[in-house]
Amino acid sequence: MPTSPVRTIDPSVDHLIRSITSTADATCTTDLAASPWTFDALPGYGPGSSMGDVIPTGAPRQGELPAEYRTADEHDLDERIRAARRTLGDRVVVLGHFYQREEVVRHADYVGDSFQLAGAALERPDAEAIVFCGVHFMAETADLLSAPDQAVILPNLAAGCSMADMADIDQVEDCWDQLADVLGPLDVIDESGRVPVIPVTYMNSSAAIKGFVGRHGGIVCTSSNAQTVLEWAFERGQRVLFFPDQHLGRNTAKAMGVPLERMPMWNPRRPLGGSTETDLIDSRVILWHGFCSVHRRFTVAQIDQARAEHPGVRVIVHPECPMEVVDAADEAGSTDYIRRAIASATRPTTFAIGTEINLVRRLAAQFPQHEIFCLDPVVCPCSTMYRIHPGYLAWVLEELVAGRTPNRIRVESAVADPARVALERMLAAKPRA
Ligand code: SF4
Repeated sequence: MPTSPVRTIDPSVDHLIRSITSTADATCTTDLAASPWTFDALPGYGPGSSMGDVIPTGAPRQGELPAEYRTADEHDLDERIRAARRTLGDRVVVLGHFYQREEVVRHADYVGDSFQLAGAALERPDAEAIVFCGVHFMAETADLLSAPDQAVILPNLAAGCSMADMADIDQVEDCWDQLADVLGPLDVIDESGRVPVIPVTYMNSSAAIKGFVGRHGGIVCTSSNAQTVLEWAFERGQRVLFFPDQHLGRNTAKAMGVPLERMPMWNPRRPLGGSTETDLIDSRVILWHGFCSVHRRFTVAQIDQARAEHPGVRVIVHPECPMEVVDAADEAGSTDYIRRAIASATRPTTFAIGTEINLVRRLAAQFPQHEIFCLDPVVCPCSTMYRIHPGYLAWVLEELVAGRTPNRIRVESAVADPARVALERMLAAKPRA
């Protein structure tokens, strides 16, 4: 584990982080109080990384951002970003994830979830560069789906996703071998036409994991289509290995009627994932031991408090939240579901939302006819998405103006080809009539 960064608050750190850190105990992680450049110098940081990662020696690192970007104030950076964008014109498209900070999102051509943004990039085949203001796996997905001559750029290479990093390709390969020891050859089709296990990965995973899934007859899912994808998988397999997010897997399978006792957990640090052979043989869904540290913070007590303080409140949470929270909420759905639910409410309504704070704040500003607040009183942004500070955006855009292409994310073809197969299976999967 990297050591904890020094807690110096940079003058250009955004207002949300300032408001979090100004109240002594009200912060989800002290790391958020550090300036974003602190992470550039930490050992162990690199592409796809998050707080707990150990990065292979020799992997490219972010490196220190030039001082002119680190010391510029928000107004200067805003001006520089706008000027670079004017110079670059249609040669560049900027994508901003729903969870991205406001000072960055205001410069985006498209705002959406990771898959919507990869799709948006397809609408701009003329753009030479796609600047993806999200996290590493999202940039990889955009590279998988964009034209070979388009450069996908992640402004800060240290913007990983802690959930995606919880399913490491070596651990997944090892899991697959152990499952073969218990279940027999995994490519043998039984009399019902199904193999022993189909691997399903959430979009929030590395390209290496998507490639693994593609090579083994599996499929990718999003939080919007997880049920359709599980139906697809159950038609082809006796059981599913679902990674990296245990909560999305459990919540989706439970809603489809799979009993909890047939959903053993796979902890990659323990033999047989910490389950027994019988658990695995009797399973319908094997859940990888991964989670999102943002969505794991939501609790049933927060929902109870929201209901007590706001009678009639409509509680909507993301399916990456723990099962008890999803069960206690009125509704659960993807970021796009949450946005559409609010947009379609015809009467002024109070909404308590269980998802990332930047999205909740943007929704509150966009729909002032409703009262919209985050379930978690200790507002907690995605700490790795937060590393895309406007200083990095200004830097990559000015590098492009100068004819250089920094921080390009490329997925090698040995991984990209099967990963695209897994994504194409997802796009072709249709809900049961
Ligand atoms: S919110 Fe969670 S799943 Fe999404 S990028 Fe951040 S850590 Fe990853």
